[in-house]
Amino acid sequence: MYTQHKMVIEADNGAEVLFVCPHDSCGRRLVLKRSGGLVVLDRGDFFALHFGGQGLEVSGDIAG
Ligand SMILES: [Zn+2]
Repeated sequence: MYTQHKMVIEADNGAEVLFVCPHDSCGRRLVLKRSGGLVVLDRGDFFALHFGGQGLEVSGDIAG
């Protein structure tokens, strides 16, 4: 069973959104491009299931 981590938006410049995982000992960070694609900055806890919110359909993209 995976632990679920809800990622939060730390910055948003209109074209890209920076998501961070607030959980201790994780620290996953990634940039989601609204034009498509994403860049993982820090992998964080590999075994946690990550998801985000705020209307962005990113749950599939940022999972794992
Ligand atoms: Zn996490």
